[in-house]
Amino acid sequence: MTSTQTRESNPSVDSNQISALETARRQLDEAATHVDINPDVIERLKHPSRVVEVSVPLKRDDGEVEVFTGYRAQHDNVRGPYKGGLRYHPDVTAEECVGLSMWMTWKCAVMDLPFGGGKGGVAVDSKDLSDAEKERLTRRFADEIRGDVGPNQDIPAPDMGTDARTMAWFMDAYSMQQGETIPGVVTGKPPVVGGSYGREEAPGRSTAIITREAIDYYGKDITETTVAVQGYGSVGANAARLLDEWDATIVAVSDVNGGIYDSNGFDTHTVPSHKEKPEGVRQHEAPNTISNRDLLELDVDVLIPAAVGNAITDDNADRIAADIIVEGANGPTTPRADGILNERGIPVIPDILANAGGVTVSYFEWLQNINRRQWSEKRVNNELEAEMLSAWNAVREKVDVESLSWRDAAYVVALSRIGKAKESRGLWP
Ligand code: GLU
Repeated sequence: MTSTQTRESNPSVDSNQISALETARRQLDEAATHVDINPDVIERLKHPSRVVEVSVPLKRDDGEVEVFTGYRAQHDNVRGPYKGGLRYHPDVTAEECVGLSMWMTWKCAVMDLPFGGGKGGVAVDSKDLSDAEKERLTRRFADEIRGDVGPNQDIPAPDMGTDARTMAWFMDAYSMQQGETIPGVVTGKPPVVGGSYGREEAPGRSTAIITREAIDYYGKDITETTVAVQGYGSVGANAARLLDEWDATIVAVSDVNGGIYDSNGFDTHTVPSHKEKPEGVRQHEAPNTISNRDLLELDVDVLIPAAVGNAITDDNADRIAADIIVEGANGPTTPRADGILNERGIPVIPDILANAGGVTVSYFEWLQNINRRQWSEKRVNNELEAEMLSAWNAVREKVDVESLSWRDAAYVVALSRIGKAKESRGLWP
């Protein structure tokens, strides 16, 4: 099955394609200049501990067998088990997983969670798979990496192309082989099999909380704030809806097929999220349509890129007209675009802080699994709010005191925690 809909091309693809690993390494080098840390530690952090590559044979519904490649990159575990999502996407490569696993290391450290960074996935277009094929692929992949994951070793979670159901299959396959039910091997499961309430909305919720704090920090009133959101999946839709509930005006939203614009703002609950109707944003009634390219250049108070990586590049950074950017997606801004925005005085609140609610509620889920006791959604959301504010305050202090960009400040907070842990544990032998 191939998609028949016309997709907008990512404006940055041709001239600005930079790998997640390249971006992650450049960001590390840049941040290292601002933090008092042993250079040996920085050198070690440029390399993953391990990258596992496996073949995942899949019997298609028509009986043919196709072999896909799966990966699990484990970047660093000095502060605790590797932690990070599994992505089903045609662009998944070992290198991309390494870059994304580095971001997870920083993300967990900036949130002060007892985890390191991991990321993995299968190079497959999940939209080409039937539900039954997706289940078989997930079970086989889980078995292929069974020796590399575990609740104290490496804990996967949902990411692009995977969801709670995928995690339930993964947990089931792992548990069946181990001979006991081990819910803590993955997070992001459905609540009925040990998932946490609030986990699915958490990356969007944290993006909204951080946006609200940034609006306040820059002296704006949320009720007079206009917001454009690129991407209407788990991050974009949940962030837009919460900000809408807090009385911000969401003037533009989009998905992979393009966006809609209304200067009076949308009732974001009536615009279908990816989960409610995949790629259905354009079908919602709206006074204007807008391309993803133009949405990014709207003159709004806040721009939230919450779709793909490399959305803001040196092709369009000059034309960004928003006052504040909050990164809902992982890696939406290339390092060169970051430099341009910095020079132009447009603050970019980084992904490793803004969307870190996902892994934070994953941590809550892991705690619930260890204790065999479920928290209420209210408790999850209250604790998430507290964790986000504490991370925001730690980063804000670096911005204020050391006049750093938000990204550098977040990296400095993360790197100093990792650096101290590495120095205290030492290098063996
Ligand atoms: N995939 C999500 C992220 O990029 C969540 C990872 C997790 O919960 O472990 O942050």
